[in-house]
Amino acid sequence: VRGLSGGVGWAGRCLLDLLLPHRCLACGEIVGGGLGGGGTGLCPACWAKMGFLTRPWCACCGFPFSTATPEGTLCLRCAERRPPYRSARSVFRYNEESKGMILRFKHGDRTDAAPVFGRWMARAGAEILAEADLILPVPLHRWRLARRRYNQAALLAWEIGKVSHRRVAPDLLRRHRATAPQGSPGTGSRARNVKGAFTLKAGAEEMLFGRQVVLVDDVLASGSTLAECSRLLREGGATAVDVLTLAMVVRD
Ligand SMILES: [Zn+2]
Ligand SMILES: [Zn+2]
Repeated sequence: VRGLSGGVGWAGRCLLDLLLPHRCLACGEIVGGGLGGGGTGLCPACWAKMGFLTRPWCACCGFPFSTATPEGTLCLRCAERRPPYRSARSVFRYNEESKGMILRFKHGDRTDAAPVFGRWMARAGAEILAEADLILPVPLHRWRLARRRYNQAALLAWEIGKVSHRRVAPDLLRRHRATAPQGSPGTGSRARNVKGAFTLKAGAEEMLFGRQVVLVDDVLASGSTLAECSRLLREGGATAVDVLTLAMVVRD
């Protein structure tokens, strides 16, 4: 069906949405509503388990607080040391449910999740997108790109760009080293791991100067990759960098 819907264009896809059942992005059960239109993409049971993030949260990194907190409060980590990005927002927690869904999107065959994820991210990041000039995905190293065939962050960035009517610049950042996967080493070694892994494309400063940039990735874990990219973009002339991810690893 995916191959077919890829070839039939928008009108055909809308027709297919009406005719064919869709499978829940998390558990694979058949759900109504379709993925392209207003459908949630999830069955009610998975929707309930997804751990969507809501206020109150850290004004900087979006860490959710469990008790009522005044607007503008920072979490302990951000209060101690502000990251190089201005703020970060995520749609939901990285938990068992969202992890499976993201892995299938990233390594499996559920790229049809991109429009749904894009809509969720545009909603979670509405405030930062309202001010944004450019949307940039965190790049993959070309070897990894060759193996996986697509960059999941770029798919998300395109969808967010469509919903928010913002320009997407997929190639301003370059990745020179394939770094170890998220979450393997501790924060310190992670930071060393990404140091120098990215550069700006020649002439990127022209696009970045005076601009507010939204950096897109699938998961905010230690934040070291996003911090390194943000630092580079600020050096390249961006006035502010905000981060938008699908999921956030919430440590208690
Ligand atoms: Zn489900
Ligand atoms: Zn924070």
